[in-house]
Amino acid sequence: MQRIIIIVALLYVLWRVLAALGRRTAASGKGAEDFSRFNARSRDRRRAAKERQAENVELIACAHCGTFIPSDRSLKSGVGAVCCSRRCADALESGADSPAS
Ligand SMILES: [Zn+2]
Repeated sequence: MQRIIIIVALLYVLWRVLAALGRRTAASGKGAEDFSRFNARSRDRRRAAKERQAENVELIACAHCGTFIPSDRSLKSGVGAVCCSRRCADALESGADSPAS
């Protein structure tokens, strides 16, 4: 019984040591920042990029179906109107007035 307790204690210590080493490697290893979702620097960078994007992007109504879409995802049809999808752009170019459902 005593032997089992000693083995369990040793395994626990080994587990703690390996976990600490793993944490240190994950925090400072090469490319660690790219994969860590919780790294402060990459989190700040991601948040800044999101805010920058939010400032430039505005909602535009599709010329065919009227759906509001972010301007960075909009599509220019051959007629020059802004559309939400290839399908709407094609419908607009072919002269269909009502949205196809
Ligand atoms: Zn549309």
